[in-house]
Amino acid sequence: MLTLPTTPPPETPDNSPKGAPQFPDGEIDQFLQRRVCARCYGDLQKAPAPERMWLVICPSCGDAWNFATLSRSYAEALGQIALEQASEVKHNLPDLFPNPHQGKSIAQVLRELGF
Ligand SMILES: [Zn+2]
Repeated sequence: MLTLPTTPPPETPDNSPKGAPQFPDGEIDQFLQRRVCARCYGDLQKAPAPERMWLVICPSCGDAWNFATLSRSYAEALGQIALEQASEVKHNLPDLFPNPHQGKSIAQVLRELGF
């Protein structure tokens, strides 16, 4: 079983309500490689800010600062746990997830899939 890290992921450098965290040229790309959006787990993007700084935005959620970020590894661990839980639910509650191919031959399934 996968376990989550015991320490919470580090916060975005400046989450103060007074404004969005901004990053200089040398740091923004590293930040974008290490972090994902905490709402949708999607990749983040940079947007230009004044004085050669960069803002972080989520192209799906839109906000420039009204969201948190997670480390990519933490988000991947959450995704793995969700997959394991989904597998357990499927196994323990088979009536909720009937096999749509039950009783069909391999040839029938392949034909239905377009092969
Ligand atoms: Zn997002």
